[in-house]
Amino acid sequence: MVLDLHSLIFSPGKSVEFDYLPDLRSLTFEGVEGFLEPLRAVGRVWNEASVLHLSAELTARLRCVCARCLTPLEKAVELPVEVVLTDREEDADDVEIIAFSGDEIDLDDLLVSAFVLSLDPVFLCKEDCLGLCPRCGKNLNDGPCGCGPEPDPRLALLRQLLEND
Ligand SMILES: [Zn+2]
Ligand SMILES: [Zn+2]
Repeated sequence: MVLDLHSLIFSPGKSVEFDYLPDLRSLTFEGVEGFLEPLRAVGRVWNEASVLHLSAELTARLRCVCARCLTPLEKAVELPVEVVLTDREEDADDVEIIAFSGDEIDLDDLLVSAFVLSLDPVFLCKEDCLGLCPRCGKNLNDGPCGCGPEPDPRLALLRQLLEND
């Protein structure tokens, strides 16, 4: 969604609201199987003392799988975004500055990248998920599988040497 900033730039005190679903169709996300609720962006851009501020809340509900045990998961995203929009060279310490040129800004670029950066690199059903047994494939969170510990390759080598003696 492209937001026309022209009328805002010259009108201190004015604000423009938005509430829409950014387009994510061209993107795939590692570990995300789909969206139970689409990404929604609700917020506004306003002119305060000739500075443009953007404040938005991003929400979505994702269907993912645990990276270790492959259990399906649901993950709710609630991400606040606060930035200052500028068409000048500017520095600020406490707030992120987004540059734009011309009279408009593509909200998708801004909001979708904030959403992508906020996603966990891996999804886990719990921090200490035990994953699947590499031999029988049982979910070890449900209890031990009976395969026993992995034999130590050094011991196996020693046993082989002793047997050959
Ligand atoms: Zn898991
Ligand atoms: Zn096993």
